[in-house]
Amino acid sequence: MKKLCMVVPCYNEEYNVKLLYEACVKTLEKYIDDTEFVFVNDGSADGTARSLKEIAESSPYAVKVINFSRNFGKEAALLAGLKYSESEYTAIIDADMQQNPKYVLRMLEVLEEHPEYDMAAAYQDRRKESKLLSFFKGAFYKIINSLATVEIKSNASDFRVIRRNVLEAVLSLPEKCRFSKGIFAWIGFETYFTPYEVEQRATGRTKWSFGKLFKYAIDGILDFTVKPLVISSMLGFLFCVISFVGFIWIFIKTLAFGDPVAGFPTLACLILLLSGVQLFAVGILGQYMSKNYVEMKNRPPFIVKEIVKSESVKKDEEEK
Ligand code: UDP
Ligand code: MG
Repeated sequence: MKKLCMVVPCYNEEYNVKLLYEACVKTLEKYIDDTEFVFVNDGSADGTARSLKEIAESSPYAVKVINFSRNFGKEAALLAGLKYSESEYTAIIDADMQQNPKYVLRMLEVLEEHPEYDMAAAYQDRRKESKLLSFFKGAFYKIINSLATVEIKSNASDFRVIRRNVLEAVLSLPEKCRFSKGIFAWIGFETYFTPYEVEQRATGRTKWSFGKLFKYAIDGILDFTVKPLVISSMLGFLFCVISFVGFIWIFIKTLAFGDPVAGFPTLACLILLLSGVQLFAVGILGQYMSKNYVEMKNRPPFIVKEIVKSESVKKDEEEK
């Protein structure tokens, strides 16, 4: 078993993967002979597969390239990376050079020195993005943490180093809709949080549009709490109480003052409001049911098309 495995999800990162690989080789010098790389090519449409193949063919170190049959998303790529890791420690790092491998070294050393910690995670102490996006991300963490039973550390991404026991715990969760931030919080264990400074993307652009991030946020909330269902039923109850009181009031008013025909606009607004609330509640219910549907189909989270291995990996496998 090697000491460290670098898991790298890659989607359209043809120029970045080599930069990252070289940066890792340089930074992890002390451990490099005891390090394996698992690059997961998440159905890239550019030359990423070729770049990764070149790395695997020329590398003297242990390099595995897992090529997916199509783009399955970062969560699936991460999961595959963890499944193929055979090391004592596993690091998760983005392919785009936004996360400097020097932090991996630091996190690894923290775990080596402190057996009481099971994983080390890096969080961004200063976000380098627009104020609006920061605001929405901040709101997301507030909402999910007020609803979910586990605390999700804000601004901590998947950039972390985990021990084997943590990796096994993550893999033991059978769910298909995966939200890693939540999973890492849910499994527990002692986590050491360290700040890191995010860098500029080396080349290419982010795959996360605002719409995609929004969907991801909603998925995260649905995966880690059923409180929206509770809230929607409470809201329903509240409206029942209000309308009951309203009825009594109208009844008494009619008895006392007769029945002037008035209040149609109010009525129209009330009908709109109530049907809106109903649709909203049914929508929430539907979201949970759709999750259930996806889980029930039990499809694999990803499909591997091909695995490319460096000479060093092949030799190790022969010896086994
Ligand atoms: N990624 C992936 N599959 C996807 C989208 C992204 O494997 O469908 C990878 C991507 O190549 C990168 C990491 O996930 O290594 C983070 O993506 P990105 O840099 O686009 O996200 P950001 O840093 O902007 O949050
Ligand atoms: Mg990035």
